[in-house]
Amino acid sequence: MTVSANTNTNVPLGDRTTFDAIIIGSGIGGLVTATQLAAKGAKVLVLERYLIPGGSSGYFDREGYRFDVGASMIFGFGKQGTTNLLTRALAAVGESIETIPDPVQVQYHLPDELDIKVHQDYEQFLQGLFVKFPNEVKGIRQFYDECWQVFNCLNQMDLLSLEELRYLTRVFFQHPGACLGLVKYLPLNVGDIARKYIKDPAVLKFIDIECYIWSVVPAEMTPMINAGMVFSDRHYGGINYPKGGVGQIAQKLVSGLLKFGGEIHYKSRVTKIITEQGKAVGVKLANGKTFYAKKVVSNATRWDTFEQLLPAEEMPKKEQKWQERYQKSPAFLSLHLGVDASALPVGTECHHVLLEDWTQMEKPEGTIFVSIPTLLDPSLAPEGHHIVHAFTPSWMSDWEGLSPSEYESKKEERAGVMLDRLERIFPGLNAGLDFMEVGTPRTHRRFLGRADGSYGPIPRRKLPGLLNMPFNRTAVPELYCVGDSTFPGQGLNAVAFSGFACAHRIAADLGI
Ligand SMILES: Cc1cc2nc3c(=O)[nH]c(=O)nc-3n(C[C@H](O)[C@H](O)[C@H](O)COP(=O)(O)OP(=O)(O)OC[C@H]3O[C@@H](n4cnc5c(N)ncnc54)[C@H](O)[C@@H]3O)c2cc1C
Repeated sequence: MTVSANTNTNVPLGDRTTFDAIIIGSGIGGLVTATQLAAKGAKVLVLERYLIPGGSSGYFDREGYRFDVGASMIFGFGKQGTTNLLTRALAAVGESIETIPDPVQVQYHLPDELDIKVHQDYEQFLQGLFVKFPNEVKGIRQFYDECWQVFNCLNQMDLLSLEELRYLTRVFFQHPGACLGLVKYLPLNVGDIARKYIKDPAVLKFIDIECYIWSVVPAEMTPMINAGMVFSDRHYGGINYPKGGVGQIAQKLVSGLLKFGGEIHYKSRVTKIITEQGKAVGVKLANGKTFYAKKVVSNATRWDTFEQLLPAEEMPKKEQKWQERYQKSPAFLSLHLGVDASALPVGTECHHVLLEDWTQMEKPEGTIFVSIPTLLDPSLAPEGHHIVHAFTPSWMSDWEGLSPSEYESKKEERAGVMLDRLERIFPGLNAGLDFMEVGTPRTHRRFLGRADGSYGPIPRRKLPGLLNMPFNRTAVPELYCVGDSTFPGQGLNAVAFSGFACAHRIAADLGI
């Protein structure tokens, strides 16, 4: 597949009037900002350091297999309500994607033979839990029902910038009950609600891993607003896999951007945000080119933005404070496998989580996540084969300072350990291996352009829900941030939310 890149050489370099907004990075957060602005008539330029768009939702091809680099459990493709932000972002620029519904969000393989499937059907999911925890039937239902209350509030309103007063006023008058509901949950974490209803430590541990698999922190530290989205939308809009692979989302957003007169330049690494009298006015690339715009948006992580693209020693107080509250999560050790179809039993689900010992849940290489997207879209692998993407948290510090040969043998050794563990759920996986590529935190840093390859920010300690997560404006005038280090955090649908909000705020600031 080729990606059409508009590398318009007529752009006068250094001309300050050419663009309304420059977006650094073409992750889903950056692309939703760009397409939303372009659809409103703004002149937009996206600068992407890599060869294709998408960042953590990109792809790569090897020997007939098409691998998703990261995300593959996709929320936001529902057909109704307002929380289906990927559907809506594409539609705004005249695009759509055929998706394949996944009847089971995830199958958990947990200690003490606790095997649980999260069915799209809410009642079927609850009934499965009730069989395992008959002593907590009431509490489990009360907990998940309360998550629906959060979701139902969110799903009534246009999800735009919470920094825009006129919008907030309008939404408040249209949906006063929903707004007050959300204000109540904003400072709360999942643990606060779960413990209200549930006493059995085994169920509380299950709620922990329900949070951990997307927030990478336990329930105690996971904001209730995000949980309301995840724990309900999986039963409402559902989990839907884009036909042709997750990379299609970014590709289609780029097509829409170009249709609306926007531009994207690949192999364009921004090395500096240019400021004048403290205001962001443009960017400088690694090749020395400069571009200027009325607004600059960074889709890079906050650490990259405020430590690399701007001088770290001039970091605004607000950012210092944020760094005191949030730290980088670990990156991942990823195995991208091509396997013979016979290695997977008939009826295998697409997503799995494997944990053998609760004390290891948050530890490096503790929890293993598995995605097998070819169970939904067989076109991504040669006939008779499947893709298996297995990944587990891993710190950059464990992969630094190694010689090339030490690095290679460590990759091989750790991959072997993971493969052996995976045999528990897929006996015969090793025997069916046709292809393997191992990615480490170094790979994630290099190809995704993320500080230490991190999956995103996590609280250093228990914080009041989402209250401390920054919106899109920054302490530097005319500089905005978008993506997973802004409200509401990680995940494709979440960063799409951030993109809608960012474009809305910028459009208001530009008066368009
Ligand atoms: C292994 C893995 C599995 C995941 N699984 C899921 C899942 O199943 N479901 C889900 O919803 N989410 C999942 N996620 C999370 C999700 O992929 C991310 O939260 C989301 O894609 C982040 O989007 P973003 O817009 O913030 O930025 P990114 O995807 O990080 O994109 C930022 C872009 O900016 C570019 N860039 C950075 N710096 C510069 C620069 N200086 N100059 C030019 N360009 C630059 C990068 O190259 C990149 O393309 C997963 C992530 C990983 C890593």
